[in-house]
Amino acid sequence: MRSSQLLSGDKSDHMHLAARMIQSGGLVAFPTETVYGLGADALNPEAVGKIFAAKKRPVFDPMIIHIAELKTLMTLVMIDPQHRRLLMTLVETFWPGPLTLVLPRRSLIPNVVTAGLATVAIRMPAHPMALALIREAGTPIAAPSANPFGCVSPTMAHHVLKGLGDHVDLILDGGPCPLGVESTIISFTNGYPKLLRSGSLSMEDLEAVIGPIAQINHSKGVPCAPGQMARHYATRTPLTLLPTRGNRPAVSPGEQIGLLALSSSCDSDRYAAVEVLSPSGDLKEAARNLFAALHRLDAMGLDRLWAEPCPEFGMGTAIMDRLRRCAVQESVSNDDETTTFDQDKQYC
Ligand code: AMP
Ligand code: MG
Repeated sequence: MRSSQLLSGDKSDHMHLAARMIQSGGLVAFPTETVYGLGADALNPEAVGKIFAAKKRPVFDPMIIHIAELKTLMTLVMIDPQHRRLLMTLVETFWPGPLTLVLPRRSLIPNVVTAGLATVAIRMPAHPMALALIREAGTPIAAPSANPFGCVSPTMAHHVLKGLGDHVDLILDGGPCPLGVESTIISFTNGYPKLLRSGSLSMEDLEAVIGPIAQINHSKGVPCAPGQMARHYATRTPLTLLPTRGNRPAVSPGEQIGLLALSSSCDSDRYAAVEVLSPSGDLKEAARNLFAALHRLDAMGLDRLWAEPCPEFGMGTAIMDRLRRCAVQESVSNDDETTTFDQDKQYC
């Protein structure tokens, strides 16, 4: 066991150190505009293997590769001429930003990154520290969220320290992540764009640019794509997603309930703790605060958490996706998730 180093990401010598750590096969946690990533050289299979070990992530769950230049994309993926225009429109409109594209991969990418799939997920993050790290390391960086597998994602450096501190060589602190929810993932592998995971780029914004996108099916217990587990983003304290907003069930005497409220709550004295995601009900602000609020509530040792639902448009879609998966009870079998995923399978 070792203590990782927490360094401020805005000092150039810290950035050099972090880049050298990546080059020498180490693990660096760094801020992105979505959540903190746990990064390793994407072209070094041993380094990527350390990510799986640190997170206790199942090897069938592929990672997203982060790049800083568009020209790197062409070295990692093959683009079907039929999709080229649509893809370029997406990339020019939304990169750098919270959009991940799943595309047929080139052989340069180690199998461990893609869990043996013929496709790879790529994103160009918008956070200046993430871009600086990738550029300075001079290699694409594979980086899932910097938290133990299945747990609440980190949006602050101290979340990484708490969850993975002993397993990371270095943490670059860039303050709170400005968007707060993971990237939106679109696949281009079945001849048309398909949403694999809702995220910080809203469907409305995406569809305004490229037209209708096939939607994922939220059927309980069935992963929609490799890594899209029914239970994920989970607090240790059991969480119940309430059916409606405002109309909350009675609290049993002696029961310690923590409430995750979308907007200002008037009966807050009934609860052991209340986290308001956005006093005005603004969905972007709510998304930004979601994971940090879950971390705080989870640290209080309460009996149960209640989460209010939010409207499912804009960032509300991604918030509800995370809350649903946090709320799935242990009794929901995740047996399907040990399945080996293959390229041709329709996941939903
Ligand atoms: P995260 O763990 O938040 O970095 O997200 C990584 C997720 O991206 C995985 O759990 C998968 O759901 C998705 N992903 C990565 N690579 C692929 C791929 N080749 N095909 C489909 N989904 C992928
Ligand atoms: Mg994650």
